Amino acid sequence: MIYLDNAATSWPKPAAVPRAVAACLRRAASPGRGGHGLSREADKILFAAREALAALFGAENSGTITFAANATDALNTALFGLLAPGDRVVTTSMEHNAVARPLRALEDRGLILEIVGCDRTGALPLDSLDDALDGGAKAVVVTHASNVTGGVMPLADIGRKARAAGALLIVDAAQTAGAEPVDVAAMGIDVMAFSGHKSLLGPQGTGGLYVREGVMVEPLRYGGTGSLSESDRQPPFYPDRLESGTPNTPGIAGLLAGVRYINQRGLEDIRAAEHRLTRELVAGLASISGIEVYGPPPGAPRAAVVSFTVGDRDSGEIAYRLDREHGIACRGGLHCAPWAHKTIGTLSTGTVRFSPGCFTTAADIAAALAAVRSIAAGHGNTH
Ligand code: PLP
Repeated sequence: MIYLDNAATSWPKPAAVPRAVAACLRRAASPGRGGHGLSREADKILFAAREALAALFGAENSGTITFAANATDALNTALFGLLAPGDRVVTTSMEHNAVARPLRALEDRGLILEIVGCDRTGALPLDSLDDALDGGAKAVVVTHASNVTGGVMPLADIGRKARAAGALLIVDAAQTAGAEPVDVAAMGIDVMAFSGHKSLLGPQGTGGLYVREGVMVEPLRYGGTGSLSESDRQPPFYPDRLESGTPNTPGIAGLLAGVRYINQRGLEDIRAAEHRLTRELVAGLASISGIEVYGPPPGAPRAAVVSFTVGDRDSGEIAYRLDREHGIACRGGLHCAPWAHKTIGTLSTGTVRFSPGCFTTAADIAAALAAVRSIAAGHGNTH
């Protein structure tokens, strides 16, 4: 089987990841909730993971990292915890439903939502962003990279514009954390949600939120934190403020092992390899008759995500055949991002999405291209 669905969740994980999960289950208990050795072991894992993530994202203080169940959970915390009825919020037409749905729910409660239309390649026209920010805004909410086209947003430019308008920059880094360089300070990011189970190579059920010092996010969940136990009020300080209840310590142990693997191999090395495979995919697909490839033009920044269609054929059927007839695991459909498909013109067919990861090889890409060539030429079963 060839796995090209890393944009959904990375697979396989480095061997150290399941090892760390198992070791944590054997050696650690509930963090922050006991002075005994097993509890202290759990504390150490959480602290080391926070430190590793803060270093990876260019954050000085690891207390700016709070853990969540996934990027969606972190985005809900950020959006519901920062935005209120009457606030004006600017976002883009390339957002995933993890952003779109909370924002629509907030709009139902009186938020004023301004969606800046991207072009058919998924690029954000910066003058349109300027126009949208002219009316003032509480926040700009933007994905770092689209999970449909792989297009990378110019975060540093967006950050400058947001700051000039007095707006917070809230970033969805689900597709880039661990794959593309992220520097929260240089990019002017105030709040950033990340998945632990995609390019950070951790287990599912992990993710988190970076919150710049001084930004106060209202918690979505209240409860025990192991700190200030004498008080029936939520601790005001991070990370406890946003981390109620027993955390997913085994998952976070695995996430830490994932980040350590990235650091050992080098993010730039992984990135260069994934970008090379992505370029091969784009060029190979574009050379097949009847295939349309979406996303940024050659040379424009792109994460390791490639979407394509085969004529007007249903993308779900193509993905099904790639799996059943050729052993290629990928995803067809709308990828939880209807806004993005409307933007690039694929709302009726969806797209087939190939997303290489850090264990994908050139031979995998060659096999995937051969399979698409065969299906596009009309060979094999029809379903
Ligand atoms: N945002 C984008 C751009 C994504 O691709 C995804 C993943 O599907 C998410 C948010 C949600 O991530 P998670 O599955 O970690 O909640």
